Amino acid sequence: MDNCIFCKIARGEIPSKKIYEDEEILGFHDINPQAPVHFMLMPKKHIASLADATMEDAGMLGRLLALSGRLAREQGSPDGYRTIINTGRIGRQDVMHLHVHVIGGSEPLGRMLPK
Ligand code: AMP
Ligand code: ZN
Repeated sequence: MDNCIFCKIARGEIPSKKIYEDEEILGFHDINPQAPVHFMLMPKKHIASLADATMEDAGMLGRLLALSGRLAREQGSPDGYRTIINTGRIGRQDVMHLHVHVIGGSEPLGRMLPK
């Protein structure tokens, strides 16, 4: 996807602060962190949103989540964290390339959703 900002990050055309990379997945810090630990895990392959994933993506989705604990510990969130996948208009997704936010730190986060 030529104009997708996260595809550009995956191709190395836009710089990012990488924390993890393999053939399939990239992990990098959010440019506008919402907590002391805030990074993203995403497939390098363009999938617009979780709503566009298919059963063919099940392995990759599992690997994204399975990586989160180790990387969160490495990044300074040893006692848990929150994963968020904003999806589509209702989920207020801004960047239309599937990604998992991993958010944490050493203190508990706020409520999941403001009332
Ligand atoms: P979402 O609303 O789930 O689509 O979140 C998009 C996230 O991408 C936001 O938290 C942004 O701060 C983050 N973001 C946007 N551009 C970049 C970038 N170039 N590098 C890292 N994070 C980015
Ligand atoms: Zn993309």
